[in-house]
Amino acid sequence: MKGTKIMMIGTGGTIAGTGNGASALTEYRAGSIGVDDLMQAVPALEEYGPFESMQFSNIDSSEMSPYRWGHLALLVNEVAERDDIGGIVITHGTDTMEETAYFLQLTVNTKKPVVMTGSMRPATALSADGPVNLLQAVQVARSENAWNQGVLVVMNGYIDSAREVAKLHTTDVATFGNAQLGHMGCVQNGQAYFYYTPCRKHTSDSEFVLREEVEFPAVGIVNLYGGMDTEILNMVASRSQGLVIGGFGHGTLPQGVRDTLKKIAIPKVRSSRIGNGIVSSNSSDVKEGFIVSDSLSPVKARILLMLALQQERSREELERIFATY
Ligand code: ASP
Repeated sequence: MKGTKIMMIGTGGTIAGTGNGASALTEYRAGSIGVDDLMQAVPALEEYGPFESMQFSNIDSSEMSPYRWGHLALLVNEVAERDDIGGIVITHGTDTMEETAYFLQLTVNTKKPVVMTGSMRPATALSADGPVNLLQAVQVARSENAWNQGVLVVMNGYIDSAREVAKLHTTDVATFGNAQLGHMGCVQNGQAYFYYTPCRKHTSDSEFVLREEVEFPAVGIVNLYGGMDTEILNMVASRSQGLVIGGFGHGTLPQGVRDTLKKIAIPKVRSSRIGNGIVSSNSSDVKEGFIVSDSLSPVKARILLMLALQQERSREELERIFATY
C-alpha cells in the first residue's frame, strides 16, 4: 500500500551477530547489533521506505519461549492494526525461526504481510547473507501478492510458508524450505513471485488470535530412540498438560512406549522424528488416545497443541484442530 510504513521488528539472531573477523562463520555472538544498524548497512532499503523500527529483543533465538512468543504476537497484532503500517518485517535467529513463524501464523490477526528473515552468517562475516535477506524480506513485505498469505519466511531468495518451513541444514545459507513440498515462491530483482498459497487456516481466520497476555500450558516433546528408558515419558508427562511424541518412521511406537503412553491420560500427539512426510491415523490411535500430527513436525505440533490446550478440549476437537491448521 502506497504511503504506508514497513515496521521492522528486531529480535536478534545471527543476522545481528558479530564475530572476531571476517572468517568467523560459526563462532560469533548472535544478537549484538540493533535493528536500526542492520538497516543502515543496506542503503538499497531506502527505495522501499518509509520505515519505523522496534527492538523487541536482541537474543540468540534458542532463548525464544512461549512467554516471548506471546509478547511478540501481541506486539505484531498491535502494530498490524495501525492504519499507517502496510507490512511487518521481523528479524530473527534461524534456530527457532520456524517455531516463531508458526506461532505467529496462528496468533496474529492480519491480512497485511508479516515477513520473517535472518541469516546463517553473522554481520561481520565475509559474504554475510543478512543484508540481502533483509532487503528481499522488505521487497516481499511491499508486494501486493504477499497480502493474506499468512506469516512468510524469506531467506536466500525464497519465500516459504510458516506452517511448512523448516531449517534443513546446520550452516548452509540455503537452509530454509520443505524437503517435500518445495518453496511457496521466490524473490528476484526486487519482485516477489508466488506459486502456491497456504491452504490451512491462518492469521485472520485463526481461532487462536492473541488479544491479551496468557500463560500457555506446558507441552513436552519426546523424540524416540532405540532402547529408550520409557520412564522418560512419565517424567515429561508429569510436567506437561500435553505431549508430542516424535516416533520412528510413520510415527511408529515400540510396545514398551505404547504400554507406558496408554497409562498417560493427557492429550498426546503422535508425530515423527523424521521431519518429512505425514503421520496419518491408524486403527489403534482412537483406542490408545492419540491425535496424529499430519505433516507437522514435533516442534510445530507442540505449538498447535499448546495453543489448543488453552482450554479443555475433547479428542474430536483436537482432531479437528490438527486437520485445520
Ligand atoms: N543461533 C542463532 C540463532 O538462532 C543462529 C542463527 O540465527 O542463524 O539466533
